[in-house]
Amino acid sequence: MAAAAATSAPQASGSPRPPVCLLVLGMAGSGKTTFVQRLTGHLHSQGSPPYVINLDPAVHEVPFPANIDIRDTVKYKEVMKQYVLIDTPGQIEVFTWSASGTIITEALASSFPTIVIYVMDTSRSTSPVTFMSNMLYACSILYKTKLPFIVVMNKTDIIDHSFAVEWMQDFEAFQDALNQETTYVSNLTRSMSLVLDEFYSSLRVVGVSAVLGTGLDELFVQVTSAAEEYEREYRPEYERLKKSLASAQSQQQKEQLERLQKDMGSVALGTGTAAETLSPVRDPSDLILSRGTLDEEDEEADSDTDDIDHRVTEESHEEPAFQNFMQESMSQYWKRNNK
Ligand code: GDP
Ligand code: MG
Repeated sequence: MAAAAATSAPQASGSPRPPVCLLVLGMAGSGKTTFVQRLTGHLHSQGSPPYVINLDPAVHEVPFPANIDIRDTVKYKEVMKQYVLIDTPGQIEVFTWSASGTIITEALASSFPTIVIYVMDTSRSTSPVTFMSNMLYACSILYKTKLPFIVVMNKTDIIDHSFAVEWMQDFEAFQDALNQETTYVSNLTRSMSLVLDEFYSSLRVVGVSAVLGTGLDELFVQVTSAAEEYEREYRPEYERLKKSLASAQSQQQKEQLERLQKDMGSVALGTGTAAETLSPVRDPSDLILSRGTLDEEDEEADSDTDDIDHRVTEESHEEPAFQNFMQESMSQYWKRNNK
């Protein structure tokens, strides 16, 4: 369990701090939308209203004022708020394992301190096997997103989350609970729980009730600590990736410019204009905006699995998701500009 580091938020002197993005994930019915709504109210009352993004196309009436709504044309502009809250589709895999979910996550994470908040329904995780399945799912998302991670044990108004915390801290306690189980699954769970021990040791856990609004102060302590982890461990990695992509891009642009000049023969080409036409995407966050077709695609593709990008899940070399995201963005960019 991560120690609660109750430090004050890092405040860069002079320049405004970039907003922390909280990407809220979790199984359908775990309480993501209620949680985002509660958090929005809480932050409003603290005089620090968040920027809210609703990515759930199934939400017919957004119960909170969303600044960006995936159902509209994405109208994104510079935000200088402290927090950006992102609600995601009820079916978690629609976001986590889809190309668009990956693009959005990478675009956010390459520009802002981005934290995954995994919401789970504590009242439905009282069986050790169910609990373990939920934790394995959380673990898989951690490895997919590779971002600082907070598990929010929601619905503590129904049942206190201390049983779950005990299971995570005390291996014997979890084994005792498993011994009550008679299903064959418990054998498997027993071996897997050993594996998960490592995952638990670095996990931030907060019990909340989205309905009552309890646990939010502790949540923000954890958010601060996770944002520091982002700056310490993730930011340098993203900067490194951006640099190597930028040099790959400029090489590609050079080749394309040469090809273009060759195609145009002796026609003089104002380099200023060409350079501008061929300018790289300056900031990954521009890409969200430029992908205005995103919601239309989603509307067409009623089947959620149509959206799954198998390249993203199957490739095994380093940072494939990020590279896919840049490649796809670039090819869209080229298509648009070369019509
Ligand atoms: P989502 O699918 O993850 O967005 O879940 P919702 O926010 O739509 O919530 C699913 C159900 O759980 C709704 O009936 C909520 O009222 C209920 N719910 C959400 N949070 C809490 C909570 O903290 N306590 C209780 N008792 N119910 C909750
Ligand atoms: Mg929802």
